[in-house]
Amino acid sequence: MSKVLIFAEYAGDKVKKGALELLSAVKDSGMEIAAVTLGPGSKAVAEELGKYGAKTVFACESDLLKDYNPEAFCEAVCKAVDGFSPNYILASSSILGRDLFPRVGARLNSAVISDCTTMTVSGEQISVRRPMYAGKCSAEVDFQNSTSPIILMRPNQLPVADASDGSAEVKDLDAPSTDLKTMIKEVVKGTSEKLDLTEANVIVAGGRGMKEAENFKVLDELAETLGATVGASRAVVDAGWVPHSMQVGQTGKTVAPSLYIACGISGAIQHLAGMSASRVIVAINKDPEAPIFQKATYGIVGDVFEVLPKLNEEFKTLLAD
Ligand code: FAD
Repeated sequence: MSKVLIFAEYAGDKVKKGALELLSAVKDSGMEIAAVTLGPGSKAVAEELGKYGAKTVFACESDLLKDYNPEAFCEAVCKAVDGFSPNYILASSSILGRDLFPRVGARLNSAVISDCTTMTVSGEQISVRRPMYAGKCSAEVDFQNSTSPIILMRPNQLPVADASDGSAEVKDLDAPSTDLKTMIKEVVKGTSEKLDLTEANVIVAGGRGMKEAENFKVLDELAETLGATVGASRAVVDAGWVPHSMQVGQTGKTVAPSLYIACGISGAIQHLAGMSASRVIVAINKDPEAPIFQKATYGIVGDVFEVLPKLNEEFKTLLAD
């Protein structure tokens, strides 16, 4: 029987959606499923992981794993791999995942394939697809001669199955060695209470068509109604209207929400590179020739300042029902 090890990130006592998506994708594959979860409080999420299909959870509550430390996390993940010998390692292509797993791959001499947008599980074989050249084409990848290949999936690409009444056996991992070359001195958290763009299920993004920084409050209002996170094009980040952490695109964040509402964004290739994997794209632009309409699922040709307040009212009414 093939084995799959899933790296599960969590926040508080909740497993992040990306990990639940991965568990759901392999749940009925017939493979033996284990998860690895690291940091104080990691054992508390084992129950939830069990309900989504993990049979074993490797956990380490060491304080050395309180904040993300690439060396300590790498050591702990490799210990879980030693204890389980998986045929595949799956993780989210989150900021943490993309930082950690090249290091794990180098340590294990495993292939690492990042930023995957589709995953096909056929019996006990996994293949994936990932965009290339800023989304102009995509490559299908399967694994033949790599030991424990590492697959990093973009969050929000796969459905989450219903929880079952399954449970997982928790196995303690030894604490990582204290002889670390990297030391985390301080973690500076963003002030926003909203989900990070890369994890958001709904994004309302604004571009130069919003005219000035002050007008982003119109986007904030719609985002509030929809429980969305606000993103931006590079043009408005460069203009200093919003911080770089809100930039979507080739030199910003790659996002893949269920719904992306692009407001006053032209749809330059570098912007599309970061959001074209969104499930439903709604574009609002007063120029009917704007390239964003070629990618949009639904296009509204109109002035954002007329359309957005009306949309917001409609959503409020719909969501109140
Ligand atoms: P514009 O292209 O100026 O578009 C504004 C749009 O608003 C227009 O389509 C206009 O019709 C519309 N509009 C104006 N007024 C209204 C109104 N009242 N109502 C409705 N619509 C209105 N860009 C990114 O976004 N992300 C990146 O990561 C990124 N990386 C880059 C990397 C490189 C190496 C390079 C060279 C460029 C990169 N860019 C990136 C920049 C990119 O090429 C575009 O310049 C940028 O995306 C344009 O932003 P925009 O759509 O907001 O502005």
